[in-house]
Amino acid sequence: MLTAGIDIGSTATKAVLFDGEVRGSAMVPTGWDPKEAGLAAYRQALEAAGIAEGAVRCIVGTGYGRVSLPIFDRRVTEITCHARGAFHLFPGTRTVVDIGGQDSKVIALDESGAVADFIMNDKCAAGTGRFLQVMAGVLDASLDELGALAVGADPVQISSMCTVFAESEIIGLLARGVAKGRIAAGIFDAIARRIQGLAGRVALREQVTFSGGVALNPEISRIIGAGLGVALQLPRDPQLVGALGAALLGFEQLTREV
Ligand code: ADP
Repeated sequence: MLTAGIDIGSTATKAVLFDGEVRGSAMVPTGWDPKEAGLAAYRQALEAAGIAEGAVRCIVGTGYGRVSLPIFDRRVTEITCHARGAFHLFPGTRTVVDIGGQDSKVIALDESGAVADFIMNDKCAAGTGRFLQVMAGVLDASLDELGALAVGADPVQISSMCTVFAESEIIGLLARGVAKGRIAAGIFDAIARRIQGLAGRVALREQVTFSGGVALNPEISRIIGAGLGVALQLPRDPQLVGALGAALLGFEQLTREV
């Protein structure tokens, strides 16, 4: 009973194949055509796993682009999919922090893994991967380099939450000769404060699992965890958690129907 979960995100499109365990996965940039990206990720995952398309019994779509692909048997919100994926990977999960390309969310789970509450910021880039990418651009660093720069540095205070103002603030800090490492640590601190603000609006309970592309950065994970006062659980492939959750929901549906 093979199922596919396809998460068409604002930045990256992910596909996971599942039949009781993960059989394959793929990730492509979403670009300007979410439908094409969804199909490309799906076909790449099938090809990498050596599986024919006809073998897939249920395809579940999630992410902002889920409306664009007609091949989906079912569409589910990212909130439900991230919760399901995180609970599968870490059954002790009671809170999921997800930071993607253009939104961030904190999801509270009950003991069965169902969504009990959530809060989402999708209105501005602050506290999202986009914020990080813009700031890394100002520092002329890759996202990985930004993490390396921040390690052990004393964070400079970045007071603007707005991405546009924060960008100007950083240009000013560089002009004053403030070390890039201190600025990188300050950028991570700004994101952590934003996440703390969101987390304060749901009942944060351990264990806390961190998903989404920003979770690929160990230094930012450490700083967000420290801000929340918990150690974050990191999936091996944090960007695939939503697609995994979608595939799992499809698998559970098929299992119920048998
Ligand atoms: P979406 O589902 O919205 O497309 P993802 O969860 O796929 O988002 O995450 C994409 C984001 O992950 C990008 O905006 C990028 O900023 C961030 N990202 C990717 N790699 C890294 C990294 N090594 N460090 C920090 N952020 C990263």
